[in-house]
Amino acid sequence: MDLIRYGNALELKGSGYVPLTAREALAQEMVRRMGGFRSEGLSREGSMALLFPRTIVDAEVLECLVAALLGGSHILLFGPSGTGKTSLAKELWNLFPKEVYAVSGCPVQDDPMSVMDPAYWKRVKCCPSCEARFGIPGKDFDPAEVDPRKVPVSVITLREGYGLARVQGSSEVFPDNLTGVYNLHRLEEVGDPTSPLVLEPGKLLQSNRGLLLVDEVGKLPLGTQNVLLQALQEGIVSPAKSRETFPAGFVAVTTSNLRDLDAINEPLNDRLSNIYVDYIKDHMKNRSILEVSREREYHEVFFPEIYLNAAVFVVESWRDLSVDIPELSEVGSNRTILDTVSRSVAYAKIDSERTVSLESFKKGIRDALYGRIRARGGDSFLRNEEIVREFLSGNLELSIERGFRLYWCTFFKRGLGSSLQRAEKLARSLAQGTVPKGGDGDLLLDFIRKMERWRGSVSDEEVFSSVVGIMNTMKDFGCKE
Ligand SMILES: [Zn+2]
Repeated sequence: MDLIRYGNALELKGSGYVPLTAREALAQEMVRRMGGFRSEGLSREGSMALLFPRTIVDAEVLECLVAALLGGSHILLFGPSGTGKTSLAKELWNLFPKEVYAVSGCPVQDDPMSVMDPAYWKRVKCCPSCEARFGIPGKDFDPAEVDPRKVPVSVITLREGYGLARVQGSSEVFPDNLTGVYNLHRLEEVGDPTSPLVLEPGKLLQSNRGLLLVDEVGKLPLGTQNVLLQALQEGIVSPAKSRETFPAGFVAVTTSNLRDLDAINEPLNDRLSNIYVDYIKDHMKNRSILEVSREREYHEVFFPEIYLNAAVFVVESWRDLSVDIPELSEVGSNRTILDTVSRSVAYAKIDSERTVSLESFKKGIRDALYGRIRARGGDSFLRNEEIVREFLSGNLELSIERGFRLYWCTFFKRGLGSSLQRAEKLARSLAQGTVPKGGDGDLLLDFIRKMERWRGSVSDEEVFSSVVGIMNTMKDFGCKE
């Protein structure tokens, strides 16, 4: 959407412009987009998912998040590592409407109405720099006394530093990083304490009118958390070495893993809508995480669907164990699911395989899980590696079996009409290395073609023989229940 340009605040106001706070702007945009998706016939759940197209989480999580944001809340996304919290936060920025009207030259991109419209000024004050520029010298600032023709208006695009700020929580983030500082050296040169050259806006001022993303908020020192709390409570920030207050009108989206939750200052936590982002329960949804990499990874090497599902089952089984060891907290993450594929493909390439072999698959899984063990001291690393090794020795084969079962039983029901007799006859042919011509053989090849959705350079024959090869290592072709 391109905004019409106006020369000054009087023209802008005359156009019927309605100023919105950051929270209102985000909420309005979400409603607008969901309305569009709904009118195209999408379900409620489907339209919410489309707001966050790159993040796969359970539908209830999205519903909580959308409802909290529409209600004007700031957000805390918490949960185990690697469940998509940071990804959700980033996608909120993609959603954010970025073209806005701002006072030209304002260091914190104030809305022009904050300067000259008394009603809006009451809700959202302008910055001291604008007060000095447009107010009457020697008098307290009063928006009713501002000449709106003298307030120049720009259309700006919110971006990092101007409407977006990101903070990575750590003990190194000090209050000054959030509040910003007055540069005293520059003040001597410039002489005007409210000049943009004198003020170095901190993260809170940088995010004015947009979004503040704080990753791992519990890792911030208490003093820094208190600065954030004050900004959320009062909507203002005082830079270090200054008595002036600046507007801090943003939507705060913070994240935390489970371990650091207790480190979040309670009053701060009270200001945030807490949303639990758990691992995805639904297997097919976890499986769909791999769709993202399908396009990228599978062009040279064919990756059988049975292995893809097995990889997901491995990580799901790990999550079910709920191992509570900090160094192992990443092993069950969504990133591990992605790694299983890229690592297996890497091994296949080393061995010049055109289809991922069982050996490459097993090595890839092992590396993906080991690669997520955080190293802290040699002994504990070896101990943790042992835990993962033992887990794999009990679960890897089992997961492949489950991957096969999911695949075969879908065919068993849809293709073979759940006939055990037909299944056994087909399995006997496969064991002899042949897919019978016509009948159930053809049905199976059709099924494989549909399931594998193969588009790379590997031939159909290679794909079939790879899949049938895996099937032949399985013993039980029945599908009970
Ligand atoms: Zn300003």
